[in-house]
Parts: sequence; structure tokens; C-alpha cells
Amino acid sequence: MTCYPIHMAADKNASVVVIGAGPAGLTTAIALAQAGVHTALAGRRPTAPDNRTTALLSGSVTALETLGVRLASSTHAAPLRVMRLVDDTRRLIRAPEVRFDAAEIGLEAFGYNIENTHLIAALDEKARTLPTLDVVDAKVVAVDTRAQEVSVRLDDGRSIVARIIVGADGRQSLCRNAASIGVVERRYQQSALTVSFDHKHPHHDTSTEFHTTSGPFTQVPLPGDRSSLVWVLPPDAVGHIAALEDDALSVEIERGLHSILGKIRVQPGRAIFPLSVAMAQRLGANRTALVGEAAHVVPPIGAQGLNLGLRDAATIAELVIDCLRAGGDPGAENILTQYENSRRADVNSRMLAVDLLNRSLLSDFLPLQGARGLGLYMIDRIGPLRRAAMREGTAPRLQPRLMRGEPV
Ligand SMILES: Cc1cc2nc3c(=O)[nH]c(=O)nc-3n(C[C@H](O)[C@H](O)[C@H](O)COP(=O)(O)OP(=O)(O)OC[C@H]3O[C@@H](n4cnc5c(N)ncnc54)[C@H](O)[C@@H]3O)c2cc1C
Repeated sequence: MTCYPIHMAADKNASVVVIGAGPAGLTTAIALAQAGVHTALAGRRPTAPDNRTTALLSGSVTALETLGVRLASSTHAAPLRVMRLVDDTRRLIRAPEVRFDAAEIGLEAFGYNIENTHLIAALDEKARTLPTLDVVDAKVVAVDTRAQEVSVRLDDGRSIVARIIVGADGRQSLCRNAASIGVVERRYQQSALTVSFDHKHPHHDTSTEFHTTSGPFTQVPLPGDRSSLVWVLPPDAVGHIAALEDDALSVEIERGLHSILGKIRVQPGRAIFPLSVAMAQRLGANRTALVGEAAHVVPPIGAQGLNLGLRDAATIAELVIDCLRAGGDPGAENILTQYENSRRADVNSRMLAVDLLNRSLLSDFLPLQGARGLGLYMIDRIGPLRRAAMREGTAPRLQPRLMRGEPV
């Protein structure tokens, strides 16, 4: 693999520097390094524990398995075989219950749900085995983009020089600012409470999303008789619910679930996430490609966020690898434009769908509720439409190679 001329003042040099060691950054770095690209991954972990779980859909699972990160056989991941959407708005116009079964489209499972701590640990373990990947546990404090290269300064005073930056540094992205890429953001009057719990009855690998007038209330299976919950509430209510004693919170959750899993016992760890939607105005510019939440933030509805982020990761890795194999400059404008063109429609369409669904729940506007009800009614009743929605939801047609199980 080609390595490019080195900036002599740099402490480290690489073809690519990935900034941010969250799941999107780790996946990008692993994909690049596994193909032999000399990659540096600069990341500083958040100090607060992440109690969230991530439902990874089949394309993402295939990509990670192809990179050697096993999910399907992991004792930490639970399969998602059935997904139910239940209208719990108690409004005049209500949608019918929609039930998606992976077997209907010939899949063993739509994907797997895994706690973020286990996902990050598995990715981190893989990253540290790759000889062409230099994992640097440091915070990036400055990024300087030049005509032929980019230089990154770390909080320990060292610097890394590369041909392209992959900005995977989350929603407050320093890389995005350094590349002069604007962001359009809208805050929702909603926050998500996350908590995991034990339950009496088995979940049968089923996730149930109750649509309420304050937002979704989503149970997702974990291994054993355990599940995770994402409970979307108005900001003034979420603090009150999160502060309840364990017994009282367990009762509230059982009530929200209409007792489908029997008696509930919450596990330690609760977190609140204010919800917003954000979109970078460009996905790449000035030798910088943005992936994951540095590029787009979507509310946690329908498990889209990181699944989009992993498709970003696989796409930019594929473009950079192909470019280097052809002897090109991976940070050149044409590569960043190809990245933008490959990802824009997928990101925009999913953000729009999630935003519309969320607004239709919150709105008292009858035509909007009617449209949601009709859409879900058609999906429920028309088999080919339902199967197309399932296929597109889990594995969109236009996928990078990794998502199809092909090494890059
Ligand atoms: C409640 C909730 C539930 C969700 N559930 C799902 C789900 O089921 N399925 C799904 O697909 N998505 C889900 N998501 C979305 C998913 O969690 C995010 O898309 C994902 O965590 C984003 O990953 P990331 O790597 O882009 O960013 P992050 O996880 O934010 O990682 C960014 C990393 O960069 C580091 N960093 C930042 N700045 C610097 C710097 N200057 N120098 C060095 N390092 C830096 C940070 O410390 C962090 O480690 C959910 C989100 C929420 C809020």
C-alpha cells in the first residue's frame, strides 16, 4: 500500500488519520488498516459510562463480521427476529399494529442488539491487533488543513500528519469546524431516558416500539430475560421519571409495556439524552470526510443512527482504499465529492423518515396522524410493500462492499 511523503516536523505520519474512537471511527480505522492502509486513530474516550444499547441491522452486522468483529456468535448480543410497532397514542385516528418478522424476507434475524460498552470493547480489541493501525489515546486539540496534507495536534503536544482526515468525533465535531463545514441543527422538545431491565416473561427475540403522544417507548431484547429501553419524553417529565426509585420506575416501565414481559426489575444505570436532528452541510471538504454523528444526528427511532454511521465508515474506507490502490490522493476534492454523492441520499431519506414519524406522533394535526396511520396500514396489509420496507430498513439496495460481506 502506498505511503505518502511525510511532513518532516510530524511526530507521527499516516495515509489517513481518523479522529474519534467511537463506533464509527473505530470501524473506519479497522476497515482501512485491514486493507493495509497506514492509519492513525486518535481518540479520547468519554469519562461517563454509556448505558445505551445499539440495534445493529443486518448490513452493519455483515460489515463488522467481515472485519472480524463477531456479533452473531457473541454472548453479549441478542438477535432481533421480530419488530412490532404499536400505536399507543389513544387518539381518534390510530394506526394498526405492524409486525415485521425477519423470516418473511428469508433472514435469520434483522440484526443484533448489543450494549455499547461491549460493542466498543470488541472494536477496540480488534483495532489493537492491526499492525498498520496506530491507536493513539489522546484528544485532538487542533486541525490544520493544507493544500497537500493535514496536520493534527494532540493534547500531549505531539502531531500527526496525513493526506486525509476522517472526522468521527461526534456531534460537537472539531474536524467539522476545522474544515469550515456548517451544520443545520434542530433541537426537539424531547429527551430519551435509557435503562436496561430484567423481566419475568421471555422476549422471544422481539422488539416492541410503542408510539405514544410524547414519542416512542421502545423495548429491545438483550441476551437472556433482559431488555433495554429507550423512553422518549418531554424534557420536564424525563427528569422526574429518571429520578424514581428502582421499584417505582420498574412499575412505570411495566405499565408502558402493557405488561407484555410480566414483572420488570430495572438494572443499575440510567442516562438522559436530549434529542435533536443535525446535518452537516457537506459530508466532505478540505481534506476532511465526516462520518457518524459528526455528519448527522438522528433521534433514536427505528435504529437508524449508527447503522447510517457504519455505512459512512464503510463507504469512505472503500473510496480511500481504491484511490490509494490506483496511486491517487485520497484527500483530493474528487474523492470527497464521490463520498458526498454516495452517502447523501441515504442519509437525507432516513433523516426525513425518522423526523416525519416523530412529528406525526407529537402533532395533534389530524391529516398528519391520518397519513401515518394510512402508511402503516398499507405496510401492514400489503405483503410486497411490507417486505420491501423490511429489506430497505435492514439492508438498503445501494450498499458499500463491506455491507455485502465483501472485503475492501
Ligand atoms: C438513546 C439512544 C439510542 C440509540 N440507539 C441506536 C440504535 O439502536 N441503533 C443505531 O444504529 N443507533 C442508535 N443510536 C445512535 C448511536 O448511538 C450513534 O449514532 C452513535 O453512538 C454515534 O457514534 P459515533 O462514533 O459517530 O460518535 P460518538 O459515539 O459520539 O463517538 C465520538 C468519539 O469521538 C471522541 N472525540 C470527540 N472529540 C474528540 C477530539 N477532539 N479528540 C479525540 N477524540 C474526540 C469522543 O470522546 C467519542 O469517543 C442511539 C442514540 C441514542 C441517543
